[in-house]
Amino acid sequence: MATTHNLGFPRIGAKRELKFALEQYWKGESSRDALKATGAELRKRHWKDQAHLNYVPVGDFAFYDQVLDMSFTLGNLPERVRDFHGDTLDNYFRVARGRSAQGEQEHAACCGGVAAGEMTKWFDTNYHYIVPEFDANTQFKLDTSRLIEQLSEARAQGVNAKPVIVGPVTYLWLGKAKDDSDKLALLPRILPAYAALLDHFAAQGVDWVQIDEPALVTELDAKWRDAFVTAYDALSARRVRLLLATYFGRLQENLSLACKLPVDGLHVDAINASDEIQDIVAQLPETAIVSVGAINGRNIWKSDLNATLQWLEPLHRQLGDRLWVAPSCSLLHVPVDLNSEIKLDAEIKSWLAFALQKLDELNVLAGALNDGRASVADALAANAAAIESRRQSPRVNNPTVKAAIAKIDAAHGKRQNAYEQRAKKQAAILGLPAFPTTTIGSFPQTGEIRHARSQFKAGELDQAGYKAAMEREITRAVKEQEALGLDVLVHGEAERNDMVEYFGEQLDGYAFSQFGWVQSYGSRCVKPPVLFGDISRPKAMTVEWIQYAASQTNKPMKGMLTGPVTILNWSFVRDDQPRSVSCYQLALAIREEVLDLEKAGVRVIQIDEAALREGLPLRRSQWNEYLRWAVESFRITANGVQDETQIHTHMCYSEFNDIIASIADMDADVITIETSRSDMELLDAFDEFRYPNQIGPGVYDIHSPNIPSQEHIVNLMKKAAERIPAERLWVNPDCGLKTRQWEEVIPALKNMVAAAQTLRQSV
Ligand code: GLN
Ligand code: ZN
Repeated sequence: MATTHNLGFPRIGAKRELKFALEQYWKGESSRDALKATGAELRKRHWKDQAHLNYVPVGDFAFYDQVLDMSFTLGNLPERVRDFHGDTLDNYFRVARGRSAQGEQEHAACCGGVAAGEMTKWFDTNYHYIVPEFDANTQFKLDTSRLIEQLSEARAQGVNAKPVIVGPVTYLWLGKAKDDSDKLALLPRILPAYAALLDHFAAQGVDWVQIDEPALVTELDAKWRDAFVTAYDALSARRVRLLLATYFGRLQENLSLACKLPVDGLHVDAINASDEIQDIVAQLPETAIVSVGAINGRNIWKSDLNATLQWLEPLHRQLGDRLWVAPSCSLLHVPVDLNSEIKLDAEIKSWLAFALQKLDELNVLAGALNDGRASVADALAANAAAIESRRQSPRVNNPTVKAAIAKIDAAHGKRQNAYEQRAKKQAAILGLPAFPTTTIGSFPQTGEIRHARSQFKAGELDQAGYKAAMEREITRAVKEQEALGLDVLVHGEAERNDMVEYFGEQLDGYAFSQFGWVQSYGSRCVKPPVLFGDISRPKAMTVEWIQYAASQTNKPMKGMLTGPVTILNWSFVRDDQPRSVSCYQLALAIREEVLDLEKAGVRVIQIDEAALREGLPLRRSQWNEYLRWAVESFRITANGVQDETQIHTHMCYSEFNDIIASIADMDADVITIETSRSDMELLDAFDEFRYPNQIGPGVYDIHSPNIPSQEHIVNLMKKAAERIPAERLWVNPDCGLKTRQWEEVIPALKNMVAAAQTLRQSV
């Protein structure tokens, strides 16, 4: 018999129940008990939904983040929250987001707000975890209460529970030593905590524990590889069986290491590492369980079940009872239920599978393996029909787009002339002062904007009424910018609800779900659009708005676009062609928009690539390949313009030192970046690398409600001028102002403009 199991289930809820419960609690509008009850209800529902599996994950639920949960289980709390004497859940939120809800008043005098823990990307997904903090003195103190409580809840419900924990090596690997001490020195201290935890599970009669070690799919140096050996030797004598789970990629040079570890089973991501399975089977001990992640846990496409069975059946014959089948990774990264989607086009819907549908697929696979394909003939036939319909659909395949892609040549990505020549022509036309000021694009999304948008969606406001409302906002943004004395203006992006969705909605080849929410961090969810077909642009997407904005002023107006790499990285994308091909298609579509803006007289065009870095592969050895097509896609998008047209790009991340050469290769005339938080430290990259074009190091941290003073901005810019010639510097905030209030934005920008004026006197 092949065994079925799941690695993790989305906890946010099909209707984002957890999000709303959390936010209510944080606002002080509900009790801690009510929040805990919502959590319990969601766990109960999700276990019920998975009850047909042989093993159901327990411990994958988290109120904020599974890594932070692990920190609390291990008693690894940052020192700044250790003396908190309120409820543990409140302390957990203090680490997660800087403040507890109820604690706020109860403990205002003794233990109010603290610095929130750092948050970063979970491997190469768009989920973000709270980084464990270490120092040389870190001690661990096991707290099993959460896991044991959830285990008994699950038991009471009659499901066959398999606790899920982050493994010790990955846990250390994910964390940060605040004092730069060696994290691995903590291994001997953390292992007893893990051993004790496993003993607690054993005492509860637990059979299998899933211990996640995705760090095994990354490039590890010798001491991290050794740590795996030490760790699992130490844990091998426990009385529970360990399923070591790897996912998000191939094991490659870590394959033999993983197979040698003294555990009882190994889970492999068969979507990414299908070619490694035979090697793994050959190297594992003859008694070990082989769990194959045969269904993509990160994408929303239906699996081709017949094709999967083609390789799974022989593997089952080979392994017999040793074969387990599961999704490739936790289903945290997909929405919950496709059946909630009543508005989605029926044909496109028939190609998709969300978490619940993926578990149904798992059942069909297990049925076919255990009782023969005939036992699930109907389900297999329906699946085959859906796969075929997607493969053949004229909505997926557009020969015109394919022909255009085939015609891309070197000329597409090349500006007419080099930066120096362009810069002269642009300067003559734009006539900007030294230290020109601009903003990143969006202005506050006011209540009026939101109200007009929801009225329009509900059909209570017609097209003309909506347009008028947006134009009022644009006019307001333009007038404010003129009053502030900014040099290059923006229209404010009032009409955009989201920088990716806005373009996706206007491109052919994109579909949108209503409830396809995926957790990004804490209570924050995103609803990635679904890129299902060849991409084309039926008509101009932004030109009218920008023209309207330009008509309100004599100052230069920036056209504002989202770049192809960012659109790609923030979407669910096709699995039937390489990501690079989808990216080139997006590039050609946005290129048309760039050229239309230019034709309409727009002299400055910004193409945001906020998410360029997010697409970097886990393994550095694959970075160059990604950067090659990502940079090329940007160049195709941007570089068809005349010398006189000034191309800007914006990136909102602070780490760019390691990819600065690729960023320079994009050849944008101006780049604006986030740097304000680090006191310009990030510009260290420019000590070694001479960035050739113009640059606007963000001097106003828009993520904080604080108003930067003029003096602060002048100081930051002076630091920047030590590394970059003053004549190539711009003055701007570090990201869009969408999430701020006008009352914050105006004084901040006033100081920014005044700072630029001061700087001009110094040159
Ligand atoms: N132009 C976008 C804005 O200003 C950029 C947002 C971003 O970088 N995330 O909102
Ligand atoms: Zn940004």
